[in-house]
Amino acid sequence: MTKDKNIPVIIAGGGIGGLGAALALARKGIASLVLEQSDEFAEIGAGIQLGPNVFHMFDALGIEDAVSEHAVFIDRLTMMDSVDGRLIAEIPVDEKFRERFGKPYAVIHRADLHNTVLKACQTHDLVSLRTSLKVTGYGNTENGVVVRLADGSAQKGRALIGADGLWSTVRSQLLNDGKPRLSGHIAYRAVLPLEEVPEELRLNAATLWAGPRTHLVHYPLRNWELFNLVAVFHSEYYTEGWNAVGARDELHRKFENVHRLPRAMIDKIDEWRMWVLCDREPVCEWSEGHVTLLGDAAHPMLQYLAQGACMALEDAVCLADKVAQMDEDYPAAFQAYQQARYLRTGRVQLTARLFGDIYHASGVARELRNQWLGSMADTPGESPLAWLYDGP
Ligand SMILES: Cc1cc2nc3c(=O)[nH]c(=O)nc-3n(C[C@H](O)[C@H](O)[C@H](O)COP(=O)(O)OP(=O)(O)OC[C@H]3O[C@@H](n4cnc5c(N)ncnc54)[C@H](O)[C@@H]3O)c2cc1C
Repeated sequence: MTKDKNIPVIIAGGGIGGLGAALALARKGIASLVLEQSDEFAEIGAGIQLGPNVFHMFDALGIEDAVSEHAVFIDRLTMMDSVDGRLIAEIPVDEKFRERFGKPYAVIHRADLHNTVLKACQTHDLVSLRTSLKVTGYGNTENGVVVRLADGSAQKGRALIGADGLWSTVRSQLLNDGKPRLSGHIAYRAVLPLEEVPEELRLNAATLWAGPRTHLVHYPLRNWELFNLVAVFHSEYYTEGWNAVGARDELHRKFENVHRLPRAMIDKIDEWRMWVLCDREPVCEWSEGHVTLLGDAAHPMLQYLAQGACMALEDAVCLADKVAQMDEDYPAAFQAYQQARYLRTGRVQLTARLFGDIYHASGVARELRNQWLGSMADTPGESPLAWLYDGP
């Protein structure tokens, strides 16, 4: 195969996954061009949880210290029953947890994580970043790809990585499998300055209030200046996308019967942003010739395990490893990457759905959940999520 080192790998989408892939490739000596449809590289104002598995990826990408500067290292994951206000279960993510998994558990503002990866890309000669360019399609050629853009131009690439998220254009051409599956669950998100957070809830934890067809998550961000809030409920009313203003009245109706503490948090927020929660059935093939998918474009998942971005970064590191190991034989490397990733990401997709049902249980299911989770050992190695936190 002829390799023209002046032709980059093209990455559609400059989210956490796309930028992570650019950085991972650059660290293997491979040049890429990231094409982002928005007029700037940016993330929304909300938090994100980081399992120990993704800290191994930060390490591989050379950004662990930079990420850690912005992260809050919580000491436990807490599940509360939002009907009676009782503790259901607690997973300590303390020293013992760190020893067991080799890395910590943390929370971070999305913009801080995205910016950290962006800065690392900006300082690397092998990464080119372009905004206001929307990928509309591609053609596989013998030695690479030709990527079509919405402005009518075309760009040659050694390969194409579709990291263009849930509504991926690259996926729709590659797999032609229709729109993502609407879960019927809606997330409303907001951030609250620390001084407005009720004192009883200023906890160094990711706290989840599980209730019938609803749940609320909160945790501290940005050196404890802010609290991240995500309220999830079942609803048929939504605006597609991730940034529409939410209907406060509907949210209050859905949470009217929950315990006073989660209500106290919810009452503090005037404006919520809506996120329609979608996923897809897992697939085992998402590559063809010189084209592959990564992150939400490949395996969109519900957020109930807090792992979508973590999986995108695991993808990025794995993909770059395979490309380097196979001496830039992209079709072979993309097959090997997909083979290495599909069972793990599929497991996260399906387990996340199950966790949604567990969080939203009512009646007998709620009682059984509380008994089951309440009786679980808090030894990190025995966690039902050890397979996830242990990493790929
Ligand atoms: C409520 C909620 C909470 C979550 N919490 C967590 C959590 O705690 N931990 C965690 O790990 N994950 C979490 N996630 C999941 C996480 O947000 C996603 O999995 C992650 O952002 C996916 O990254 P990505 O780069 O694959 O896609 P995206 O972040 O969607 O990025 C795609 C990029 O591609 C661009 N783009 C799209 N189409 C085109 C095109 N045609 N041409 C060019 N550019 C294009 C977009 O503008 C965007 O910049 C959560 C998700 C939700 C909804």
